Amino acid sequence: MVAVKPEAESTKKKEMVHSPILTYFSVITLLSTCPPFVILLWYTMVHQDGSILNTFSYLKDHGFEGFVNIWPKPTVIAWKIIACYALFEAALQLWLPGKRVEGPISPTGNKPVYKANGVLAYAVTLVTYISLWWFGIFNPTVVYDHLGEIYSALIFGSLIFCVILYIKGHLAPSSTDSGSSGNIIFDFYWGMELYPRIGKNFDIKVFTNCRFGMMSWAVLAVTYCIKQYETNGKVADSMLVNTVLMLVYITKFFWWEAGYWNTMDIAHDRAGFYICWGCLVWVPSIYTSPGMYLVNHPVNLGPQLAISILIAGILCIYINYDCDRQRQEFRRTNGKSTVWGKAPSKIVASYTTTKGETKTSLLLTSGWWGLSRHFHYVPEIMAAFFWTVPALFDNFLPYFYFVFLTILLFDRAKRDDDRCRSKYGKYWKTYCTKVPYRIIPGIY
Ligand code: NDP
Repeated sequence: MVAVKPEAESTKKKEMVHSPILTYFSVITLLSTCPPFVILLWYTMVHQDGSILNTFSYLKDHGFEGFVNIWPKPTVIAWKIIACYALFEAALQLWLPGKRVEGPISPTGNKPVYKANGVLAYAVTLVTYISLWWFGIFNPTVVYDHLGEIYSALIFGSLIFCVILYIKGHLAPSSTDSGSSGNIIFDFYWGMELYPRIGKNFDIKVFTNCRFGMMSWAVLAVTYCIKQYETNGKVADSMLVNTVLMLVYITKFFWWEAGYWNTMDIAHDRAGFYICWGCLVWVPSIYTSPGMYLVNHPVNLGPQLAISILIAGILCIYINYDCDRQRQEFRRTNGKSTVWGKAPSKIVASYTTTKGETKTSLLLTSGWWGLSRHFHYVPEIMAAFFWTVPALFDNFLPYFYFVFLTILLFDRAKRDDDRCRSKYGKYWKTYCTKVPYRIIPGIY
């Protein structure tokens, strides 16, 4: 271990990794374009056969008024569906039993505590939803048939929710991991609090990111499948491959949920529009969109192709899981885990918290983490490709999520590198010398 002057980890303006002009531009653009985009995507998938050209020609003919006309009003039934779902998930989060888990030490030295009941909540949600359908109590096709209204309600409801988060961040922060950047737009966009809570136990980011966002992905994947079944009397193999792969991915997510609480989304990104609106609206709409497309496009792949895509997709999800597991086991055991059957190679990096305390972290430099500094994004992106490719290539739109994810993760890798460089200083430099590629080994 080498002793060097540790670098302070800034908690303010940490998000300014790009130039200020570019940051302003991208924040304003995302705030103003994401909501209408969600509606346009839904409209194109459900009413224009997934064809961007059809939507484009509609908008050309009907102009802005045409766009206003396709934007569904948030109806009572939409609000009811959202409220029942949100309350059900909040109740499961609060009351289902689970192991006590500690999150990583925050920049101001706090250690958040969670209840790990994600797998149970996931199982209860899916069993309840499918049972409601099976026993004729609630038909999920209702959700599909009111999807536009639901997205519209989510868009407005989540915006109000983010305003409340902003006000709470100013007036009643839950912990010392909170603060203003001095800029109202950035505070709203990036958030004020790292760990906002209601009371002591109800973690808001666990709710928005995991129990509402990720859970809605699974619920909607099942909804699309049931809708196709109820419309056509059967489910096409393309839809089956898509649904199974998405469910395997989401099952992996909940299996590893306590690990997720150590990642950037939870440990570094504050609760604002970027993360919370993203998880409350973008995940249920954009992330589920390949399945939304397949409802009206029951492509038949044939057993050979279907099984090949399924196996390739599961392999990618497994590798992505194994990358995360390897890093977290390594950190949990304080560098004493084995990595690909050997003792791990590592860098012991020290840094200073905002309170001025010196801490150390271990950086793994072997296994998946020796291939590139963010190799785990490669199988993540490939998995998205494999659950989209059953749609074949008639339209581009089902691939939007795949393209979006690629851009998101390349940007995220840069953000993370910049943050780690300012946190670990020369230790990060050493890591970059040892593992020179950011994402794709040998290329980038
Ligand atoms: P992680 O938080 O898991 O990893 C990055 C963090 O790990 C760094 O900030 C650093 O934190 C620490 N770290 C970096 N290098 C090393 C190393 N060599 N050894 C040990 N620790 C290291 O990344 P993500 O949150 O981006 O990804 C988590 C998972 O979520 C992945 O599977 C990813 O694919 C998935 N994901 C999916 C997205 C989607 O939209 N589908 C979006 C984003 C992620 P520290 O400060 O603790 O050192």
